[in-house]
Amino acid sequence: MYYIGIDLGGTNVHAGVVNEKGELLGQAEVSTPRGTEAVVEAIAQAGELSAQRAGISLRDVRSVGLASAGSIDPAEGMVLHAWNLGLDHVPLARMVSERMELPTLIENDANAAALGEFVAGAGRGYRSLAAVTLGTGVGCGAVLDGKLFTGFNYAGMEAGHMVIHRGGRSCTCGRRGCWEAYASATGLIRSVREAMAGHGDSALWHFAPTPEAVNGKTVFYAVETGDPTAREVLDGYLGDLACGIVNLINILQPEVLCIGGGISRQGEKLLAPLREVLDREEFTRDSPRRTRLCVARLRGEAGIIGAALVPEYR
Ligand SMILES: [Zn+2]
Repeated sequence: MYYIGIDLGGTNVHAGVVNEKGELLGQAEVSTPRGTEAVVEAIAQAGELSAQRAGISLRDVRSVGLASAGSIDPAEGMVLHAWNLGLDHVPLARMVSERMELPTLIENDANAAALGEFVAGAGRGYRSLAAVTLGTGVGCGAVLDGKLFTGFNYAGMEAGHMVIHRGGRSCTCGRRGCWEAYASATGLIRSVREAMAGHGDSALWHFAPTPEAVNGKTVFYAVETGDPTAREVLDGYLGDLACGIVNLINILQPEVLCIGGGISRQGEKLLAPLREVLDREEFTRDSPRRTRLCVARLRGEAGIIGAALVPEYR
């Protein structure tokens, strides 16, 4: 039996056909149009093309799973708000289901990515996994005892909005001091810019001649030159990231915790200092059974594979 997974992004609609083992058999990508009807049509076309490339008929597809950013109501199959897609209170699952004549469901993209990693990436062969994606925000998802954990209202793993600095930076969610405001790529870039403003002599300026040129890699380059300002920014960032990871491990005790997103490509430069904090602070630090911290193994495909297989793991 086959499943179609669709990763609905602001730039591209990425579709793939997956079997029950999470193997990706065919993929297709089209650019994301504007407007609800056009988005539905693009999803259907990408899905059909991926089936064609996988060499299968849509009659052999059990269901379509959509992974979308923004505010989602999976119970109703609704996209409540996805500003980057121009969607506002759209019953997207029903519309795609009618167009493709297949059962269709929708899941938030961080949960779909976590499920994809569980089935076919860093969590393969384990019973539980937490996935943290460092991007514009901090996306989190968890699979516990083989089931996708969503909470009763499907918003159960919004761990990016746990407060790590009470009264700290204001967050898009309305609180202050959320983990995401510090540990996301956006949070890191903000910290680099603040440090540059106070240190005109920092090597950070060499790697980013203007504040607008700062990206998630700037501080990692500048640290290599021995620049003390960059070191201070990176240590602060790693401390904030580690704080949330220790919290997550203490609460969930997953067998694996994987970190994805652009910053995770730093590999051991990121993981080694995090492990030092875990060895010091994790509640189970003396236990023979400890959470394995690693980098996510899949990239764009995690969302497709996870979205496709949501019906099997809900
Ligand atoms: Zn928040």
